[in-house]
Amino acid sequence: MLKELRVDPDKCTHCKTCAYVCFTNVIEWDEEGEIPYAKYPLDCQVCCICEAACPEEALTVIPDWSKKYFPRYISTMGGSDV
Ligand code: SF4
Ligand code: SF4
Repeated sequence: MLKELRVDPDKCTHCKTCAYVCFTNVIEWDEEGEIPYAKYPLDCQVCCICEAACPEEALTVIPDWSKKYFPRYISTMGGSDV
């Protein structure tokens, strides 16, 4: 789970690479602010691919370690996602 997708607006060049590489589609593009944001933070797998792919090192993934992880995965394995 994602606590925060931190973007440095001074470094971001609006290339949208982070949004393209996120395989869970957590990251959406804010057309008005011209900046990426986490639309579906619960789906984040904390793979940090987006962070690694950012050519400007403008992105930082801040995980939320306080919550139970991978709710969709757990639910598909027959466990509880409460
Ligand atoms: S850490 Fe992985 S799953 Fe989470 S927003 Fe970045 S690319 Fe998507
Ligand atoms: S990959 Fe980096 S520079 Fe490109 S839009 Fe995302 S945060 Fe901005």
